[in-house]
Amino acid sequence: MRCPVCGGATEPLGTQQVLGVHTAEYVVCTGCGSVAVVGPTWLEEAYGEAIADSDVGLVQRSVATAECVAALARTAGIPGPHLDYGGGEGLLVRLLRNRGLDARWYDPMATNRYARGCEAEPAGRFGIVTAVEVVEHLTDPVATIRELLDLTDVLVLSTFLVPEPAPAPGTWWYYTPDTGQHITFLSRRGLQRTADALGVHLSSHVNLHVLSRRRLPLRSRTLATRPRLAAIWNSLRRWPSLTQSDYDDLLRDADGN
Ligand SMILES: [Zn+2]
Repeated sequence: MRCPVCGGATEPLGTQQVLGVHTAEYVVCTGCGSVAVVGPTWLEEAYGEAIADSDVGLVQRSVATAECVAALARTAGIPGPHLDYGGGEGLLVRLLRNRGLDARWYDPMATNRYARGCEAEPAGRFGIVTAVEVVEHLTDPVATIRELLDLTDVLVLSTFLVPEPAPAPGTWWYYTPDTGQHITFLSRRGLQRTADALGVHLSSHVNLHVLSRRRLPLRSRTLATRPRLAAIWNSLRRWPSLTQSDYDDLLRDADGN
């Protein structure tokens, strides 16, 4: 198997059971250090529920990402609409709209619960596109990153990068064998190579990564990847929220007017 990130050669990393019954075979790229699962056959079973029951980090992740995206949009002067690609139940879109950003939801795998009426197709142009916990679910993450960069000049990814040397299966939580959903794990080098190949700037800290066509101001790059700093920055400012107008729109639609 070739590396799904850089196309380089891979070598076996080990195996572990996923979903309790399937044997997943992991390989690591000798070129960029990224890790992938070879030919997962269980994905249909893995997506019986789009959001895994064990995703206990979903709310905290959404709040943290909302702080970062809001601070990024404000400091870099990026107007909406913004798109949350793979938006799940719509929590991030709701949080961004409550913070006054015109964010839209798209997810072919999930049901929009929190941002009804704020859907958008991934077509046209958006200010910021977010893809939170998306790329590790894909067999070809680079193709999707490329497609998303056709929609925007600023793409925010949330995914944990696999350390180097790559942890053996069974020794890193982000392999999430209980769900079977994570199949591609970018390394820092793999992500940087992807950015270089696509001709975009990369700012990265822990699990938040900003790929941008123009070099963003240092303040924007810092706040976009550091939730606690972004939360402090946001708390010192007031922005008009979209909460009331969204409510009015939903009531008007319910009335059929
Ligand atoms: Zn590679």
